[in-house]
Amino acid sequence: MSSINKLDKQFFVDSLKGMAKLSEEQRDHWTKLDSDIGDGDHGINLSIGFRGIMDKIDQLAEENPDINSLLKKSGMILLSKVGGAAGPLYGSFFMKMGGNYPDRTEVTFSEFLDMIRTGIEAVQFRGKAELGDKTMIDAFLPGLKLINDYQESEDPLSFFDSFVRAMRAGSDATIPLVAKKGRAMRLGERAIGHRDPGSDSSWMLMNVFDQELKKRS
Ligand SMILES: [Mg+2]
Repeated sequence: MSSINKLDKQFFVDSLKGMAKLSEEQRDHWTKLDSDIGDGDHGINLSIGFRGIMDKIDQLAEENPDINSLLKKSGMILLSKVGGAAGPLYGSFFMKMGGNYPDRTEVTFSEFLDMIRTGIEAVQFRGKAELGDKTMIDAFLPGLKLINDYQESEDPLSFFDSFVRAMRAGSDATIPLVAKKGRAMRLGERAIGHRDPGSDSSWMLMNVFDQELKKRS
């Protein structure tokens, strides 16, 4: 088993499996959030996408010796199976996150943070959303800011806890907003008082990494 400073392929396999489990557990909740201000497919879409990953993950882990290929192929499954905005966004996240570390079978915690940074930047590039648009970017950007300020002297676990907390607070901050992107835009002021579903799934998905890190500490 990997330690927190030597995160191996199994860490990412276990995280993806954890995300698949989360997507089943939260499917109805995310669907409800998306029904309030969107088209109600966010929960279904993520559960379909991560089920697609679950079906293939053991095979992918066997066929792909390095972390980057495993993540890339998993992202491609999300991209191909998930409709709506979430598929391309989360697909990009996983397809791009390992790009700075090709052919690696393990990464340090700092490198892992850099991978998350790359993933978030890919989401931002793809979605073109800004802070305050009431999208998943409202959760990701406060997390990204923390990562950019990370010092190696910080305790990895407590740092990652605060990363997830910052993302969660960013999701909370979408509740009073009018949407400037996505279907919720059409609702105008009626979107006020509702949490953006993508901001909710994104902090919860990153929280799965947190849970897996804790198992390795
Ligand atoms: Mg939707």
